[in-house]
Amino acid sequence: MSFQIAIDGPAGAGKSTIAKRVAKKKEIIYVDTGAMYRAMAYYLLKRGVNSGDAEAVERECEGARISISYENGEQVVWLNGENVNGVIRTEKVGQMTSDVSKYPKIREQLTLLQKELASTNDVVMDGRDIGTCVLPEADVKVYLTASVEVRAKRRYLELSEKGVSCDLEQITKDIEIRDRQDMTREISPLKQAEDAVLVDSSDMTIDEAVEVILGLCKENQQ
Ligand code: C5P
Repeated sequence: MSFQIAIDGPAGAGKSTIAKRVAKKKEIIYVDTGAMYRAMAYYLLKRGVNSGDAEAVERECEGARISISYENGEQVVWLNGENVNGVIRTEKVGQMTSDVSKYPKIREQLTLLQKELASTNDVVMDGRDIGTCVLPEADVKVYLTASVEVRAKRRYLELSEKGVSCDLEQITKDIEIRDRQDMTREISPLKQAEDAVLVDSSDMTIDEAVEVILGLCKENQQ
């Protein structure tokens, strides 16, 4: 049986940064499931699909072949043979992702891929439904969160450092909308699994949060 660490939580809680470091320390792979959903949303945007048109989404999503590979330890997401890492991180794609990730057909397709990866590799996997749906038997489950103010400020700084002009108030609103959608959808909503440990990173450094998770791994004897 592979060793599985599941990290769920709302947007901007630091999941990917923290999960990446945990994966490096444990010398296992990091699976960013949000990137897979983003690749799907990017495909649908490119096809001009309206996210509210369930029939069109379910028909068109069949044309997206999504897979991942690793280059120098970094996850690369492939969409129909194209590396889409560089184009899926925009706010527009993020919102479309949240809009379309409620559709069962998309979730089934991507959940299958995620389960396959975790059955043959030791993984740190992050997302919204990893501890609750994708890896219900995970060895370590963490629900990583932070206050909305802290999460918005982190995103603002991240974008500003990249030279992207942005507005803190707008970022806060976007995060709130995305969280609400992810938490209230019918299928696989974002919620803390009953057996997940709550880690609030509002007042923690990245290294402190990493240490907490590594400590949980030790408790689970890995
Ligand atoms: O983690 P990230 O912000 O990249 O995720 C983008 C969106 O993908 C989320 O807001 C959510 O709607 C969706 N998602 C999901 N299930 C996952 C991972 C992401 O529904 N396991």
